[in-house]
Amino acid sequence: MIDYDLTPFLGGAKGTAARLKVAALCHGLSFPADMFQSIKKPFYDNQYVYGRTSRNVVRSHRVPQALRVGHGAITAVLRREMSPWTLHLQGNQVVVKHNGKYVRVVELPDRPGYFGKVLSDGQRSEDFIAVAGEVTPGFFVYPECHYFPDGKPCKFCSLKHARKTAGKTMAHRFDLEVVAEATRLFQQTKWKDIPIISIATGTFPDNDEGVMYTSCIVRAIHDALDPKIPIHVLTMPPDNLDLIEELYIAGTTSIAFNLEVFDRDTFIDICPGKQHFYGYDKMLDALIHASEVFGPYNAFCGFVWGLEPIHSVVAGYEWCLDHRISVSSNVFHSDQGSVFAKRPHPSEEFVLSLCSIQSDMYKQYSSARSIFPVSMRSTLDWEIHRGDFR
Ligand code: SF4
Repeated sequence: MIDYDLTPFLGGAKGTAARLKVAALCHGLSFPADMFQSIKKPFYDNQYVYGRTSRNVVRSHRVPQALRVGHGAITAVLRREMSPWTLHLQGNQVVVKHNGKYVRVVELPDRPGYFGKVLSDGQRSEDFIAVAGEVTPGFFVYPECHYFPDGKPCKFCSLKHARKTAGKTMAHRFDLEVVAEATRLFQQTKWKDIPIISIATGTFPDNDEGVMYTSCIVRAIHDALDPKIPIHVLTMPPDNLDLIEELYIAGTTSIAFNLEVFDRDTFIDICPGKQHFYGYDKMLDALIHASEVFGPYNAFCGFVWGLEPIHSVVAGYEWCLDHRISVSSNVFHSDQGSVFAKRPHPSEEFVLSLCSIQSDMYKQYSSARSIFPVSMRSTLDWEIHRGDFR
């Protein structure tokens, strides 16, 4: 039973789930911070690896990493006290309401089967392995960014705040043998199929050294994998673009360098560190180079929806796709501790327009794809690629 009018919508039942995800991302969800502490059944609670996405919560509150909204789709849980979208517990069931009216039951994500172990260096597996979305394990290595002490962080980023608060128990040290051990642990644990491994990094003071370090991490993972599965890397590009090949040789199968916004002036304003220490034009050059190294549409450029007008996003998408670079989207969320902590999220109309446009672009550029072959928390790429917004 759905009281909230999730129509008009063309995507049938899958589309209705995706539509609920759009609402949850645009408005956030309101619920008591300690609501999930009473649930006995284990579930995957948020690790706060690189962002303080929910307001006024700490890890002991056990806010879920994501919610399953139906038909394979998950959504981020962005706690926003004023949202008309509310969460309620009925026994162990989580119910979504809109302005007090029942919408649907949603499900908690399963706790990864490889959590609860202690690695050989004494670190807990749930602090060492960062699981993106619900089922994609990996590592967030070098969880720092010198743009913060230099006073030039990206304005939407809460990495520094998250690592001092809710995410403070997450790993800082990644010895290669422990990375290999953790890789074997998550691949050999009988739990869920692992479609891809996700490696993300903070921003190194020296971009070239950062890429060489990340290549060593990828090599350790790749060597430990049996059988081999895809490895995706999100990082800053090197100054010496020839070094991008090192990541490929190490075993990386796809790569993302995130421009975040396409409009040049907006980039300079919102990503002052990326502009000052790397530069807009060099980011474009790096993306073109990555596409040549990794092959058509295996290099990705990330955009944050809600920081520039739709026509700028579309111009960025066209530039990327014409250069055989895939795009990835992220719906802006105002993280606690970021410069944009009080900036409004984009409207549902804005996001639905971009879903429709990206849907048309996937048809036009049929080799373009989403990074992950599963639903992820704050992006609609997978749902759009599946056709939920047609
Ligand atoms: S480059 Fe920007 S998004 Fe990445 S960690 Fe630094 S401030 Fe955050």
